[in-house]
Amino acid sequence: MAAETVAPSADQHASQSVYEQIRSRVLREEIPPNARINIDALARELQVSSTPIREALRQLQGDNLVVQEPGRGYRTTPILNPTQLRELFEFRLLVEPWAAKIAAQDRLQNPAYRLEAEIADITALVSNQSDIRYELMDHDIRFHDAILGSTSNEVLRSAYAQTHCHLHAFRLHPGERTGEFTVQEHRVIHRAIRDHDPEAAEQAMRDHLAAAYLRFEVAHNISRGTPVLPGVHPDRPAAGNALSL
Ligand SMILES: [Zn+2]
Repeated sequence: MAAETVAPSADQHASQSVYEQIRSRVLREEIPPNARINIDALARELQVSSTPIREALRQLQGDNLVVQEPGRGYRTTPILNPTQLRELFEFRLLVEPWAAKIAAQDRLQNPAYRLEAEIADITALVSNQSDIRYELMDHDIRFHDAILGSTSNEVLRSAYAQTHCHLHAFRLHPGERTGEFTVQEHRVIHRAIRDHDPEAAEQAMRDHLAAAYLRFEVAHNISRGTPVLPGVHPDRPAAGNALSL
C-alpha cells in the first residue's frame, strides 16, 4: 500500500508564498526596519485576504523579523547594532568550527554529498546572474545547517537556528553581489569534510566565519585596529575581503 503522504494544499502553497514575499520585502528593506506594517495595504498589494498576511506575520515573528505590539499591530524589528553582530559571530565561532570538525569525523553522518549539491546549485547561479545576494543567503542557511545537523546535537542546532543569524546579517549588509568568495570558502570546507580531515574542516570553518565577519566590518567600519574576534585579524584580511564589497 502506498505511503499516506499529505501533499501541501493550494492554501498552504499560497500561505508559504505570501510569507516568502513579505520576508523578502523585510530583508531587502522595502519594508524598512522598525516600521509599522500595514496589513490592509499588503493584502491589497499581494491580492490576498488579510488571513494569509497575518499567518505570514506570525511566522516572521518566529524569525524575529517582526514583533507584535499589543493593540497596535505588527512592526519590523530594528537591524542589529555592531555589538549584536559581534556577539553573533562570537557565538558562531564557538560552535561552527567544532561542528565542522565533528562532521568530518563522523563517516555515517558525513554531509559532504549535500554540501556538494548545494555548491553545485549556487555555482550555476553565480555564472548565470549578476546579483545573487538573496539566493546566496538561502544557500548559506542550508549549507551551514547541513553541517550543524550532521553533529546530531539538537540542542546546538536549535540554539543556532534561534539566532536567525543569516537573516539578520543580511539586513545589515546583504553581502557579496556575486557570491564568488563565499562559494570558494564553502568549497574548502566541503573538501575537508569530504576528505574526513577534522582539523582542516575546523580551520576552514573558522577562516570562513572570520572572512564573513571582516566583510561586514569593512562594509560598516565597525571597528578599527586590534582583532575583534578570536582568530580574526584585520591586518591580514581574508581572501576577497576588499573585492567582495
Ligand atoms: Zn557560509
